[in-house]
Amino acid sequence: MLFKDLYIGNAEAPMDIRVTDGKFTDIAPNLTPLPGEGTVTDLAGKMALPPFVESHVHLDTCLTAGRPRWNLSGTLFEGIQCWEEYKPFLTKQEVKERVNRALRLQASNGIQYVRTHVDINDPKLTALEAILELREEVRDFIDVQIVAFPQYGILSYPKGAELLERALELGADAAGAIPHFEFTREYSVESLHICFDLAQKYNKLIDIHCDEIDDEASRGLETVATLAYETGMGDKVTASHTTAMHSYNNAYVIRLMRILKMSGINFVANPCVNVHLGGRADTYPKRRSMTRVKELTAEGINVSFGSDDLFDPWNPLGNANMRDQVFMGLYTGHMLGYEEIVNSYRFVTENAARTLHLGDAYGIAAGRDANFVVMDAKNWYDALNYNAPVLRSYRAGKLIASAAPAEKQVYF
Ligand SMILES: [Zn+2]
Repeated sequence: MLFKDLYIGNAEAPMDIRVTDGKFTDIAPNLTPLPGEGTVTDLAGKMALPPFVESHVHLDTCLTAGRPRWNLSGTLFEGIQCWEEYKPFLTKQEVKERVNRALRLQASNGIQYVRTHVDINDPKLTALEAILELREEVRDFIDVQIVAFPQYGILSYPKGAELLERALELGADAAGAIPHFEFTREYSVESLHICFDLAQKYNKLIDIHCDEIDDEASRGLETVATLAYETGMGDKVTASHTTAMHSYNNAYVIRLMRILKMSGINFVANPCVNVHLGGRADTYPKRRSMTRVKELTAEGINVSFGSDDLFDPWNPLGNANMRDQVFMGLYTGHMLGYEEIVNSYRFVTENAARTLHLGDAYGIAAGRDANFVVMDAKNWYDALNYNAPVLRSYRAGKLIASAAPAEKQVYF
């Protein structure tokens, strides 16, 4: 099948795309249909991108805002309390039904790859089992990567390390940790060693909830980077949030940056939720609490954006549209230079694919799986500014989601 007249990424000239047996086979201008080629789709100069990648979300908690009660203070810690009160309602069926709805919402916005953290501080591992099953059921439409996430800590929750190991045995793709939430600094460091040891034992990726606090003394990141460097795990490791880095003094950041670069780790910022949950202990001025995206990017370190939460105790809004994260991230990070705007789709496509360690499975190039989306815009600048919908989302050349272009009328 042939797709005609598409601007791929920031390309200045339109291309045609040929898909054969679910793979990209030819990407060039003015391709002629082959005899018996089948469908030819004219995409009229719209923008094509590889599918959006959600690099940090908690699907187990999604769509639960207000149940059993609303998080009225809007703090991270009241959010954790609300979630604790919701946990008795969890059943495998309830989780699967809810997460299924969230995945369809994501698919409607052109997302085909999702890294979800799943709370494993539950002796029954109910949510984990549900999402493990769902991961297999939706595999043809969306790739779900699961991080075993110890919400209360590895050492500060009964049998935390055993639950983490059990989750990895059951099939979680990555090991998590939450060093800033452990009872002591000593537990914080030790929990990271446990996380790295288990990840290596089971050959898994790592994604740490790292320093998600406005405490300039929260320094889990230096340990994460050093362990990634010394173990050689490098870019298999991701530091999520790192909001304390917003508050570090510059002299410390200059020293820290060296090991961050040497380590090769990835960063995920969650712009909407970081701004919403951050600065809560401040009077005025209030900190933005997003990690140093601009400076990390300038150093060549991989940074992607995630949503973190979709309509749950930590974020009462959320529509699973990655554009919102880019929009907020650019404003919060002082990144509205022209080049920064036109390249910003990378935070939720290529960079996020690197975070998920997708390798050559991802991207619009001959020989790869024919997964791509078509925006209702000619370029990313317009797509971002006018919140253009994803008109079509293709998976192995098959249409899996579509939207009609929005029409507005002005009567003067
Ligand atoms: Zn998170």
